[in-house]
Amino acid sequence: MGTFKIELGLSYIKIKRVKIDQDGNYHISVSCTAKNTTCKDCGKKISNVHGHCKESVIEHLPVFHSKVFIHVKWPRFKCPYCDNHPTTSFKPPWLGGNGELTLEYENNALKWLINSTIKDVALKLKTTEEVIEGIVSRRVNTEIDWNRISPTKIGLDEIALRKGHKHYLTIVSDTSEPENIKILGVIDGRKKDDIRPFLQSIPKDILLSLEAITIDMSASYFPALKERLDHVYEKDDEKDDVFNRIVTIDRFHVAKLLGDHVDKERKKITDQLKEEYKDDEETLNNIKGTMWPFRHHKKDVSDLSDEDQAHLDSLFEMSPLLKECYDLRESLYNIFETELSIKEAEKKIDEWIESAEKYKKTSNPFTSFIKTYKTYKCNILNYFRSRSSNGPVEGLNNKIKVIKRRGFGFRNVTNFARRLFLDINLKPQLMPTS
Ligand SMILES: [Zn+2]
Repeated sequence: MGTFKIELGLSYIKIKRVKIDQDGNYHISVSCTAKNTTCKDCGKKISNVHGHCKESVIEHLPVFHSKVFIHVKWPRFKCPYCDNHPTTSFKPPWLGGNGELTLEYENNALKWLINSTIKDVALKLKTTEEVIEGIVSRRVNTEIDWNRISPTKIGLDEIALRKGHKHYLTIVSDTSEPENIKILGVIDGRKKDDIRPFLQSIPKDILLSLEAITIDMSASYFPALKERLDHVYEKDDEKDDVFNRIVTIDRFHVAKLLGDHVDKERKKITDQLKEEYKDDEETLNNIKGTMWPFRHHKKDVSDLSDEDQAHLDSLFEMSPLLKECYDLRESLYNIFETELSIKEAEKKIDEWIESAEKYKKTSNPFTSFIKTYKTYKCNILNYFRSRSSNGPVEGLNNKIKVIKRRGFGFRNVTNFARRLFLDINLKPQLMPTS
């Protein structure tokens, strides 16, 4: 049997003895070698020893399957400079927040927790869920230090905390680097009053340097942003300028809005066809198979099987009107797919509106979309300025879905926010890839 030495990797201590208890866990008794500390009151270096604290038992990283405990009595130092000569106990830099765990132990637990559950990690580290919860609440800070970041693009997106529950959250993210999205905030709610405090916490100089704030059109982010930006810019003529220049409606929300109207038209027409061909089983089955291929965008057409394409072609043969509707949806989608200047895009969309208005004289599915477009025109067109999209945020939303699906049953927004910050913002620090 071979043995080897392991470096504890902890400063300011000297090992006195090591005992193994009946469970096979290691108990390492150490003495502290610190000769001084910093006075907790005046901040001066003090070196007059004044007794010791009672013994601390600090859990460190496990060795193989055994737990490792450090037993130590920290020295206390008395301050000769402060009036009432207060004492300060020595604390080494490797000690975790509650004095009972090393930082390395906490880091290890957090690393395990990424993509996992508190319950599972507690089980693997042979500890309680409370211990892991404590580490998360001490170490995962959901408050942003605005002095340390300088986002150029921000995205606001709403999500439901739990499926089927009308409890909405707003996720604010830094989308400056699409490959490296960070969470800036998790806000309980999606209404103006809910998001106001967060918007107010963003410093003025950061707001002034933003290229784009990309939002979802359905939530009440518009008035909240208008209010905040109005306070940042003092000159009246600048206010509207800036709001109109940086607030960008996400192109995917624009596409979805149009898609929903077009899909209603599809349903209306196919229902009529189903009635017309109710005795022709083959045609009926064909019509039934057209929903998904119809919803696909042309650029994904290669995903369509020959069968799907054939279904779609025969549907369009039965209803050339529906083909026209489909083509109109696609031509607008393709405008957003093309690299255009704002001016070019505006001209193309104006032309598109002309043909969309000709689609039908009454109950035209494009009418309400065109109205919305005209209302939010400059914010929709802003996409062509910075080409910022919450597309990356949609990717983030998939991560969020995975976290929710892990089945923690998040009842509490704070816990959910911490897990999101851990899995997305802290992961690169805890698990560097290079
Ligand atoms: Zn002092």
